[in-house]
Order: sequence, then C-alpha cells, then structure tokens
Amino acid sequence: MSFPGLASPHTYAPPAVSAFLQRSRCGAYWVWIVRHCEKCGRGHRHGGGTIGDDPRRSLGHRAGHCRVAIPDGYVLTDGDPDCTERILREVR
Ligand SMILES: [Zn+2]
Repeated sequence: MSFPGLASPHTYAPPAVSAFLQRSRCGAYWVWIVRHCEKCGRGHRHGGGTIGDDPRRSLGHRAGHCRVAIPDGYVLTDGDPDCTERILREVR
C-alpha cells in the first residue's frame, strides 16, 4: 500500500491523541480510551497491559485503530495524568 503525498518519515510526526485510563469490564486489564481521535474523529480503545503492570508503559507511538487507512498511527498520551495516578493508587 502506498500513500501518495505523505511526507518522508524524517519529517512526518504522527499526531498526539489524548487517552484516558479505564479498567476492562472484567477488571483484569487496563484499557486506554481515546474519546475523540485527532485523525478520524472516532473513539478508539487500546490495551494497556494487565492490572499490576504500569499502563503508562503502553503509551506512545501506536498503530492507529482508525477505520480509514491512515499511515503511521498516532502517539497515545495520557489525557489526565492526575486521574491516572488516582486510579493506579486504588488498585495498589
Ligand atoms: Zn482514529
């Protein structure tokens, strides 16, 4: 697949999208919720590891979950670090 017009990897910086930490429905996993994707406007969910792991380690450059083909994904960033701290303290 090619993406005509895409800048070279040296100049293209994937956009940052804010993600908010939640526990999975079963309570065993972390989930990062993207409420509004900068690239496609939809919401996405990204795995954040198992409870007991630090979910912040799975932030950063991730493949996009957008339904449209978007090259190079985006950079997941913690949209509310204070809330993340609070959630992490609750489970420890
Ligand atoms: Zn998207």
